[in-house]
Amino acid sequence: MSVETIVTDKAGLQKFYEAIIAKNETYAPVEKFGKYDFKLVKNLSECDPESPIAKTMSAKPLFFPRSAKIMKYVATSAGTDVSETDEDPLAGKRVIVGMKHCDARALQVLDKVYNWDFIDTDYQKRRLNTVVISTRCDKAETHCFCTSLDYDVENLDAMDVLIVNGNDGKVYIKSKSEKGIEFLNSGVTSHTSRVTEEAAGEELKKQYTAFSASFRLKMDYKSINEKLSKIFDTPEFENVSSNCVSCNTCAFVCPTCHCFKISDEKVKDTGVRYKSYDSCNNGYFTLMAGGHNPRPAKYRRWRQRAMHKFVYYKERFGENLCVGCGKCTTSCPVNISIFEVINQVSK
Ligand code: SF4
Ligand code: SF4
Repeated sequence: MSVETIVTDKAGLQKFYEAIIAKNETYAPVEKFGKYDFKLVKNLSECDPESPIAKTMSAKPLFFPRSAKIMKYVATSAGTDVSETDEDPLAGKRVIVGMKHCDARALQVLDKVYNWDFIDTDYQKRRLNTVVISTRCDKAETHCFCTSLDYDVENLDAMDVLIVNGNDGKVYIKSKSEKGIEFLNSGVTSHTSRVTEEAAGEELKKQYTAFSASFRLKMDYKSINEKLSKIFDTPEFENVSSNCVSCNTCAFVCPTCHCFKISDEKVKDTGVRYKSYDSCNNGYFTLMAGGHNPRPAKYRRWRQRAMHKFVYYKERFGENLCVGCGKCTTSCPVNISIFEVINQVSK
């Protein structure tokens, strides 16, 4: 009989991670200069799957790289020879451990965009070949507000396996997809014991209740969605964005922001075309070839950021383009908080 939900303890969880790393190409949060980024690891000692959310980059770059070569070309007397770039290093079978709930949820948001009017086959291949193992946080950090958004804790399609540290001192490892069931039965869980769905369900609910109670930041996202859609012209956007230095950091660290630019780097006759992160906070983002820029002022760009996250995306795809992780706030050099922005302009 296949294993779907298992229970273990902290030591068993460490063995689970060790077995995953030994048997699979595994990415996990690795610390450098006090911050964490997802890297390929060979030993559990290299990484910390329980790394803090505020200090950890999301796993977005493993699906949507910060800058990727998409084409090479050479200009010849007969024309231009175009060639594919090297093999995609992110396209193989792999496992990611140490993603938080909000990070896994953000993948659901990206899935909708990249499977919409244009199917991004590179992104799709990376998603299909990845087993996503996500850990539910024990308590909220200062800038988190994920539970205030349309957060369906039992319906996170992007997650294959969920790990929860129960309040009873046990660790629950639960499959959340067919891929997750297959993975848990691939020889990585032999040291653990199986429990019924019902027995685990009760404990998971209790843990979620305690986790939800730990949030400092709370908001009513439905009323925010409604109010924002009616206040496009409020001058309050100028006040909340006046300190912004348009550095784009908030978009680069955001697990749901997905804007990119295409640029060429050419030396003599040889060139490489790159697809790299971009942001609507960038002053040149909407600059047109003829010189016109419909968003020349930063308050207009900040308004676009807020409206896209809480109005436009919601209208198109039925959910917010924000998972409440707070990474933008903790990374902003001038301490702008999207939570405060949307609450202030909606007042
Ligand atoms: S990180 Fe802060 S300063 Fe930089 S663009 Fe975003 S809001 Fe502006
Ligand atoms: S906008 Fe900020 S809080 Fe929302 S998902 Fe992006 S980084 Fe997280």
